[in-house]
Amino acid sequence: MENLAELKAYLDFPRDIAIVTHRNPDGDAIGASLGLYHFLKEQGHTIHVISPSEYPDTFAWMPEVEKITIYDVDPETTKSVIERSDIIFCLDFNALDRIDKVGELIAPTKSRKVMIDHHLYPEPFTDYTLSDTTASSTCELIFDFIKDIKGMRYMNPTIGECLFTGILTDTGSFKYSTSAKLYRIVAELLEVGVDDYKVQDLIFNSLKEKHLRLLGHCLNNRMEILEEYNTGIITLTKEDYTNFDIQRGDTEGIVNYLLKVSNVKMAVFITEQPTIVKISLRSKGDFSVQEIAKRHFKGGGHRNASGGYSFQSLQATVERFKSLLPRYKFQLTA
Ligand code: 5GP
Ligand code: MN
Repeated sequence: MENLAELKAYLDFPRDIAIVTHRNPDGDAIGASLGLYHFLKEQGHTIHVISPSEYPDTFAWMPEVEKITIYDVDPETTKSVIERSDIIFCLDFNALDRIDKVGELIAPTKSRKVMIDHHLYPEPFTDYTLSDTTASSTCELIFDFIKDIKGMRYMNPTIGECLFTGILTDTGSFKYSTSAKLYRIVAELLEVGVDDYKVQDLIFNSLKEKHLRLLGHCLNNRMEILEEYNTGIITLTKEDYTNFDIQRGDTEGIVNYLLKVSNVKMAVFITEQPTIVKISLRSKGDFSVQEIAKRHFKGGGHRNASGGYSFQSLQATVERFKSLLPRYKFQLTA
């Protein structure tokens, strides 16, 4: 499968399709997967969406989200879905290690594989790759894909609200990665009946009391601003996870608060997980956190939003992170 025309022709016949997205799926991962799912389902294909791990409650309203097969919960179904698929769409990730065990299931299959993604440095594990690192989101690319292969008459509010979700969350509500093209896409989504107000309300006004208490705790007790390096750090311990009953997705977005401090160019959120210490990095402007994530924390992502992890203790990871700062001082303070 060399190009879009071949993929389009392949999809002219009913296929058994698996859509796979990354571990700890975010709005873009879930939105792109469900958007493509609803589109392909209406074309008469048999489709299953697979996520390595559970999705945050924030997205529980999304149409048919409950049909997603979660590897951590049901590895057997995941395996059988992958084994019988004719074609596998890999959405919002670009390296098999981003999907852990699911990657090991996918790698040996003869299924055709297609990547649609916007992260830096895609790895060549698919037959056809639609990668655009300038795109705001994978949802933007799914919009282009649907429009290219079938046209706007196949877009509808269900697909559109899924895609709007990823665009909204991956741009931080249109704060970054925007473009004239993206605003045109959003205009087209509203024209087919997407209720932008409803989607924003569902995603952003669905917090519980504990979320605001956790945010208060992070900002009041766990935040450090390193003025010398224009860097802000928030850390969370295992005890914080217990005390605040922190579940998957509950910490989403906290890292961004650090960038609201004037002069802070890099924001770091370091959390103690059951087996690893997870690092989330954000930056403003030209400073690339992708490089730091890749070089020092086995991770990657985008120039201004990346992540990685460490097997050291929380404290050792924080110390190591701080010890790296002098090398980046020039860029951070330029
Ligand atoms: P977050 O900080 O929200 O978890 O992730 C920010 C960005 O970094 C996302 O685009 C995500 O795909 C990427 N990212 C997060 N963690 C990892 C990781 O462990 N490895 C890689 N390669 N990318 C990551
Ligand atoms: Mn994305």
